[in-house]
Amino acid sequence: MININKQPSKTVKAVGLISGGLDSSLAAKIVKDLGVDVTGVYFAMPWGCCDKTKAIEVAQKIGIKFIVLQLDERYLELVRKPKYGYGTAMNPCRDCRIHMFSRAAQYMRHIGADFVFTGEVIGQRPMSQMRESMRIIEEETGLKGKLLRPLCAQLLDPTEIEKQGLIDREKLLKINGRGRKEQLELAGQLDIPYNQPAGGCLLTDKNFAQRMKDTLDHGYRNFYETIALKWGRHFRFNKDIKVVLGRDSAENESLMRHAHPEDTIMQLTDNLGPTAILKADAPSTQTLAQVAGLIQRFSRYKDNETVEARYWLKKDKNQMRLIHSQKMDEQQIIALTI
Ligand code: SF4
Repeated sequence: MININKQPSKTVKAVGLISGGLDSSLAAKIVKDLGVDVTGVYFAMPWGCCDKTKAIEVAQKIGIKFIVLQLDERYLELVRKPKYGYGTAMNPCRDCRIHMFSRAAQYMRHIGADFVFTGEVIGQRPMSQMRESMRIIEEETGLKGKLLRPLCAQLLDPTEIEKQGLIDREKLLKINGRGRKEQLELAGQLDIPYNQPAGGCLLTDKNFAQRMKDTLDHGYRNFYETIALKWGRHFRFNKDIKVVLGRDSAENESLMRHAHPEDTIMQLTDNLGPTAILKADAPSTQTLAQVAGLIQRFSRYKDNETVEARYWLKKDKNQMRLIHSQKMDEQQIIALTI
């Protein structure tokens, strides 16, 4: 029998997954208002995510603790080969959730918390928020009975947390489906800011997914390299040589800042054109001339016979050298484009 009236005799602690979006914010507010000591956990994607600021704002507004856990090479390997396959692009939603929830479970044990909760709503997402998926995720993360979904808990079997009276099941909700009406009403009642999603998960974006696949197929120096996948024009010369060109000065800056120390950076000597990041070990003179040719194509000098460029290893700007471009035609460029 479910003991819904028992009052907890100790401070109940929980770890909540906070994305900065509406559902996880509501879940955090509901659990916090039940007297639980909540720590919000935000998972930072390897390629960065602008929702982190929103997540911090929500945590401050609700008055909960907040930490960021970085997703790294382990996450990229999961994206490379997900056990449960992909969604519409390269989004391995079920595996992704298993990974995040497992790390949240580790953190729960680390701080002596009683359970993990999420803002999931049954029936909202085809791949990861159907009843069967939710059950599998719970079992694979070792969170059986300890994973609470406050927004739809009354539509699910009671968890151990509810059975033990740590949380009053009657105060939990029974929202289901893809609609947002109930959540929006609730946000108004609970004074939770509604943040428009900031573009969604990049793994569901077909262009980004194509670049990610290329990176995972050919290897990467470290997970920070994937940050650059969201900027610029990307070209694959062969399995060992890749080039990224910025599309404007902001991208040029970002690409240079995030380049690996072993990457070669190239610019026209007058700097009027894109910056190129060359990912290759000891590139040949011909490769360097072709990279300069790519820069030339996307500069004001595209009709010139050749242009002069300078290049250096990111880790050693003092060793700057010069090269003349080898002009590239459109067919060559299309063939190289990722
Ligand atoms: S949409 Fe992206 S972040 Fe969300 S579960 Fe799927 S892969 Fe993970």
